[in-house]
Amino acid sequence: MSDSEVFDVIIVGGGPAGLAAGLYAARDRYRTLILEKNGLPGGQIMLTGDIENYPAWEKIAGPDFVERQKRQVQTFGGEIEVGKSVGKLNRRDDGLIELGVNNGKETYLARSVVLAPGSDYRKLGCPGEEELRQAGKVSYCATCDGAFYRDKHVLAVGGGNTAVEDTVYLATRFTKKTTIIHRREEFRAQKVLVEELYRTAEEKDLDIKLPCVLDEIVPTDDGARIDHVRIRNVKTDQVEDLKVDGVFIFVGMIPNTGWLKESLPLDRNGYVPADPLTMKTVMPGVFVAGDCRKSAAMQLATACADGVVAAMQIKEHFRDPDAWGHSTDQPQTGGW
Ligand SMILES: Cc1cc2nc3c(=O)[nH]c(=O)nc-3n(C[C@H](O)[C@H](O)[C@H](O)COP(=O)(O)OP(=O)(O)OC[C@H]3O[C@@H](n4cnc5c(N)ncnc54)[C@H](O)[C@@H]3O)c2cc1C
Repeated sequence: MSDSEVFDVIIVGGGPAGLAAGLYAARDRYRTLILEKNGLPGGQIMLTGDIENYPAWEKIAGPDFVERQKRQVQTFGGEIEVGKSVGKLNRRDDGLIELGVNNGKETYLARSVVLAPGSDYRKLGCPGEEELRQAGKVSYCATCDGAFYRDKHVLAVGGGNTAVEDTVYLATRFTKKTTIIHRREEFRAQKVLVEELYRTAEEKDLDIKLPCVLDEIVPTDDGARIDHVRIRNVKTDQVEDLKVDGVFIFVGMIPNTGWLKESLPLDRNGYVPADPLTMKTVMPGVFVAGDCRKSAAMQLATACADGVVAAMQIKEHFRDPDAWGHSTDQPQTGGW
C-alpha cells in the first residue's frame, strides 16, 4: 500500500466500541476505516436477543442495534471492511501506524488507530452449553441478563470475584432460587465477597455446592429451554440433576489482544492499559476502546462511550501530534 492511501483513522474491531469510534471519526470528516475480522460487524452484542439496559432503548435486539450503528457510520462516510483480521501493529519512524492484516498478506497505514477487538467470555465447553446459549438460556453476564430470571432458579458456575459477586447480585435482586457451584473446595474470590455470599445464603434461597462441576446442560425436547443440569461432586463423584431455568457461567474473559503482545504492554490478563480519561495507550496515535481495555466495565454503553472518547481525542492528537500527554494535560474536548 502506498502512503497516498493513508487513512486518518483505522479502527480494529467492528463491535460497539469500534462502530461508535467510527461514527465520531467519520462525522468529523476523517477518512475512517473499520477492520473487522468476522464476516459481519457487531461483535458480542450480535449474540444477544434483547438488550434492556442501553439508555433510551427499553428493548432492542442485538442484531438490530448493530444494524443501526453500522448504518450510522456509513451515513457519514465511514468504511467497514469485513474478513480483515489484524495481526500486527507497528509505529513507523515517520509517525504513521502500520497494521498487518490476514497474516501479513495486506498492510494498512493510518495516522491514528483505535484498538477495539473486544474480549470473549471463557466457555466451559460442556455438552449443551453452546446450544442453550443460542437459545438464550446460558449467559455469561449477570448485569446483562439477570433481569430475565425474576423468580426463577438459576445455576451459577465459578469461584472468582465476578462469580461470587454476581451470584449475590442474582440472588438478592432477581431469582427465587440460586445455586452456585465451584470445582474447588474453597472460592478463589476475596474473603469479603465470600463472606457476603455465605451471609446471603442464610437470608435467601441460595445453595452453595463445593467442589462441584457442571457436566451437562440438558435441553427440553424442543431445544428452547433447559430441562435440567447435571452437576458432579469431584470429591465423591456423586451426580445430581437440578431443575433450573438458566445457567450463568462466570469463569473469566479472554481479551482478543494476543497479537498485540510485541507492540504494547498488556496487563497480566492481557488487557490493554490506557489513560482512562483519554483512552490513550503508551504508543502515540494509538487509542483503545471497549472490552479489551484494562478496567473496562464490559457493557454496551461503556464500550460505545470508550469509542466516543477515543475518537474525540484523535482530534486533539492531530492538532498536536508531538504532545502525547496524560489526562491531566488534556484540554476539554466537549461539544458537538
Ligand atoms: C450474549 C451476550 C449478551 C450481552 N448482553 C448485553 C446487554 O444486554 N447489555 C450490555 O450492556 N452488554 C451486553 N453484553 C456485553 C456487550 O456485548 C459488550 O460489552 C460489548 O459488545 C463490547 O464491545 P466491544 O466493541 O468492546 O467488543 P466486541 O463486542 O467483542 O467486538 C469486538 C470486535 O472486534 C473484532 N475483532 C477481534 N479481534 C480482531 C482483530 N484482530 N482484527 C479485526 N477484528 C477483530 C471481533 O470480531 C468483534 O466483532 C453482552 C455480551 C454477550 C456475549
